[in-house]
Amino acid sequence: MTQNGRYIPEPIKRQIRQRCGFGCVICGLPLYEYEHMREWSIVKEHNPDEMTILCPTHHAEKTRGLLPIAEVLTANSKPHNLRFGMSEAFPLRYSGDSCLVNFGSNRFMHDFARDAVISALTIRGYPVIRIKKQDGSLLLSLRIFDKEGKLLLDVDENELIFSVDSWDVELVGKRLTIRSGLRAILAQVEFVAPSAIIINRGTFAYDGFQVQVAPDHILLEKYNIRMEKTSARMNGGGGFRFD
Ligand SMILES: [Zn+2]
Repeated sequence: MTQNGRYIPEPIKRQIRQRCGFGCVICGLPLYEYEHMREWSIVKEHNPDEMTILCPTHHAEKTRGLLPIAEVLTANSKPHNLRFGMSEAFPLRYSGDSCLVNFGSNRFMHDFARDAVISALTIRGYPVIRIKKQDGSLLLSLRIFDKEGKLLLDVDENELIFSVDSWDVELVGKRLTIRSGLRAILAQVEFVAPSAIIINRGTFAYDGFQVQVAPDHILLEKYNIRMEKTSARMNGGGGFRFD
C-alpha cells in the first residue's frame, strides 16, 4: 500500500521499523526518523520497501551527502539490530537527589540523602528494580520479561536495550512500548527524566516468581496479592518486597 503526501500512515511506519529491527539501520539507536532511501522529489509515495529508519545523526549525514546512499541501502538490507538480535544501548539520563517510581498505579518516593541504593521491587532477596545514586546521576536497573520468561527489556545502570524478536517496539516521546500484536501490549515504561519512572505494563520475574504490572494494579499470582493506588515513601531502601 502506498499513499501520497508527507504523512506516513501508522501501519506503514510499523512495517518499516519491524523490517529494520526497531532502530537506525546503521547504528541501531531506537531514536529515529522514517526516511525515503531515494529523494522524496523522485519517489513521491510511501512505499515501505523503499523506506528505512535512520537516527537524527545518520539522517543529517545522508541529507548532506556525507553518508552515501549505497551505504544506507547496504545497512537497510542488514539492519544493525537484526545482526545482533538486540537493540543498540540507549542511554537514559537520570539525576538528582530523589526519585519517584509509579508501578501499576502504586507510587513510591525515595530521598537519596540516607541510602545511595534503593530497590523499588525485591523478589526473594533480589533487587528487580533498583536505583543507585552515583556522582549526581541516578542509575536505573530493571528487567522486564514476557509471561513465558523471555527477556523483553533490559535496563542496566541507565543503558537500555531490548529484544528485537518482539512484534513491535516503539519509543514515542519518553514512552517505550513493546507489543505482541495489534493493541496487545507486553510492556510499557515511561522514562520521565530527571528522576521518575512510570511502569504501566510488564512482568518482573525472579527465581520462579512473577509480578505482573497492569496500568491500575500489580499482581503476584503465586500469593494472590494484588495492590493498587498505594502511596508510600521508601525508608531504609525498602520498596515492594516479596520473599
Ligand atoms: Zn544511526
